[in-house]
Amino acid sequence: MSYVAIATSPFQSAVADLLPCNKYLKSRLTHALIEVYGLLDHVDECIVDAVAHRDQLVQFHQREYVDTVLNEQHNRVQLYDSDGETGWNYLNGVALEWGETGEGVDQCGFDSWKELFQYYLRVSDEITPSRKRPLDSDDDDGISGSEAKEEALKVFNLEGDCPIFSYLPMYVRTVTGATLQLADCLLRKAALDKRFIGMNWDGGRHHASKGKASGFCYVNDIVLLIQKLRKQGTGKVTYLDFDLHHGDGVERAFKFTKKVQTISLHLYEPGFFPCTGSLEGSSGFDTVNLPLQHGLTDSFLQGLVDQVVNPLIQRHGPEVIVIQCGGDGLLGDTFHEWQLSIRGLTKCILDVMSHSTQAHVILLGGGGYNPTLMSRFYTYLTGRILHQFKNTDPFPGMNGAQEESLIRDHKYIECYGDDEHYKFWVYSIQGSQKHRTLREENTTDQIDKFIKFYSI
Ligand SMILES: [Zn+2]
Repeated sequence: MSYVAIATSPFQSAVADLLPCNKYLKSRLTHALIEVYGLLDHVDECIVDAVAHRDQLVQFHQREYVDTVLNEQHNRVQLYDSDGETGWNYLNGVALEWGETGEGVDQCGFDSWKELFQYYLRVSDEITPSRKRPLDSDDDDGISGSEAKEEALKVFNLEGDCPIFSYLPMYVRTVTGATLQLADCLLRKAALDKRFIGMNWDGGRHHASKGKASGFCYVNDIVLLIQKLRKQGTGKVTYLDFDLHHGDGVERAFKFTKKVQTISLHLYEPGFFPCTGSLEGSSGFDTVNLPLQHGLTDSFLQGLVDQVVNPLIQRHGPEVIVIQCGGDGLLGDTFHEWQLSIRGLTKCILDVMSHSTQAHVILLGGGGYNPTLMSRFYTYLTGRILHQFKNTDPFPGMNGAQEESLIRDHKYIECYGDDEHYKFWVYSIQGSQKHRTLREENTTDQIDKFIKFYSI
């Protein structure tokens, strides 16, 4: 029997949604939907308030970079450029309103940003009591407002799509702490001879590198997790990345380590971020790139997993598989590049888990820019994992032909209204306005090419 742990809570979700690209919704919708389907009743352990400390972050990241990101000056509502086109001032508006009027009381269980931050300080103080500082302190930590600050932000790429946003240090430490806590759980359960399955849908920040933020990723919790697992005595690890974008930060970190296999399947074409991940950029079967075209369908992905991904993982023989479950390749995502369905992507992930029955598995989030699509995806995936690996049926309406078609009533139900009509499967209903089919540009020749290239 597997031991299943998940890192999720109203606290973690409220903090994770500070990330501007989460649109102040993604994580809270996910937590609420997982809760309303009763999934938390079936997990063995729920991690609710893990917070990483600086010393853990510098295990991979440069000290100067970490110190800049964690600068306490950033633990407050930030004033953004008022240029409406950037979109960041939307969050700022929410932040100011919530902080000053108490809006959000029934949204996530905290009255204000201050209350949320105070909770964070209490939780983090258990680990680092010396780092507490008074709220509303106007002390300048040395770089605010100076030219040096601007220069530092440029060097660390803390601009563009990776701006300093409100409470950035709290966000970074909370999301990373949740991922790292899963490594501790794994160690405890592996010692008891149980297969461990851990989840943190707020993690999976695969683009961040040692001294640079990139693509909405500030701290690479995946690299930190794998390093921690290796330090704890884990032998071989496989990292598998389902995100629409190449998992460049993780690949770079482990390029020269045979013990860690990285496999990334992603859209690859000139000019598409992060512009890396070609087949030629692969090396042996430790650094695997599976570059794909537009329009990826469930059936193509299934073939790729069966014929290429699973055999490559089997060849490596990992003790732990870390899976990045980015959902920006789903039909209904704002990128609109691939057309995977929630069921199709979920099945591929489950097949990888079933194929390597000896390996522990840690599943993390990633990209995905339609919050109501992502909450559906992570809720369904969590439910299916519990169904398959805990022999429970927390989701009786969603496992077969009788799948429930309407989102269950809960406090965020209105987010699923309007043109979505509260339907769970709105994006996969044939004929619905939301179901737009793209041309599948991937061909079976590509799979044959991969098989030949990797000598499978
Ligand atoms: Zn992505």
